[in-house]
Amino acid sequence: MPKVELHVHLEGAIRPATLMHLAAKNRVNLPPKTLEEFDKWYEFVDFPHFAQVFQASSRCIQSAEDIHRITVDFLDGQAEQNIIHTEATYTAFTHYKTAGIPFDEQIGAIRDAANAAYSRHGITFGVIVDIARGMVSDAEAMQTAQWVADAHGDGLVIALGLGGYEKPHPAENYVTPFEFVRDAGVPAVVHAGETGGPQSIRAAVEQLNAIRVGHGVTALEDPSVVSLLKERGIVLEVCPTSNLCIGVADRIENHALPHLIEAGLKITIGTDDPPIFNTTLVDEYQKIADAFGYGRDHLIEFNRVAVEAALVSESRRAELQATLGD
Ligand SMILES: [Zn+2]
Repeated sequence: MPKVELHVHLEGAIRPATLMHLAAKNRVNLPPKTLEEFDKWYEFVDFPHFAQVFQASSRCIQSAEDIHRITVDFLDGQAEQNIIHTEATYTAFTHYKTAGIPFDEQIGAIRDAANAAYSRHGITFGVIVDIARGMVSDAEAMQTAQWVADAHGDGLVIALGLGGYEKPHPAENYVTPFEFVRDAGVPAVVHAGETGGPQSIRAAVEQLNAIRVGHGVTALEDPSVVSLLKERGIVLEVCPTSNLCIGVADRIENHALPHLIEAGLKITIGTDDPPIFNTTLVDEYQKIADAFGYGRDHLIEFNRVAVEAALVSESRRAELQATLGD
């Protein structure tokens, strides 16, 4: 089945074999040494371990060439799964700060990989450059906003994102950079309602003008937030296995997904950080099909929603729609 994925992190999608290669090449000392140990270390244990793995993975990226390599690998993996369009979150500021790679070089490397994937597989790619909550100063957050405003419209950089840990870092702290990009006509795609409650979703929508919400699974705790999402036609990017790993739900059968759909919300399915959560988009569809008895029509609907919400040209949207409609 052709698929569209709107919620996955480029740095959270590095395959263990690629990470091992980058660690060796860049002499980054990581706890695992063999591919077997990498596979095991990469597996989700708890949130602090996840943060350690994510940051260590980011540290292994030390040049534009490395960014090119992870993007080529990632897009090959998407093509293998018949994912015809992907929008990934990417934390450019980390690589600027830790490895000194200029933003334009980072985006140039991703663009080369995206162009090659289009030529080889006919798949398209967009990047949501995000601010990581709690990881940057106000000035650094504004730097990201400025990069995104300047690059937007280049066919690759499609939105400003907000990722990271919600609870101690509310959306209200990031109003200035999001207002800045809004004035430049750039959409906002915000993680909210994962570790934070429905008020975090409301803030993402009302204060940051989010057009899509990453996760949003706690929306049902407040009917007024459900109404707000429906009024504005906001799509929730739901990542079931990620939610299970982080502890948002204890088992797939207890996940909010069917209730979000019953409430009339628009939902699409993503993987978040697939190798770390030991999943793929195909696995996500298999899991929800098994847990909730979803058939092919149901699964296609998640992709139709994704196509509607994708930040693509209208001509590309029509192509994607036509491909799903087969
Ligand atoms: Zn995410």
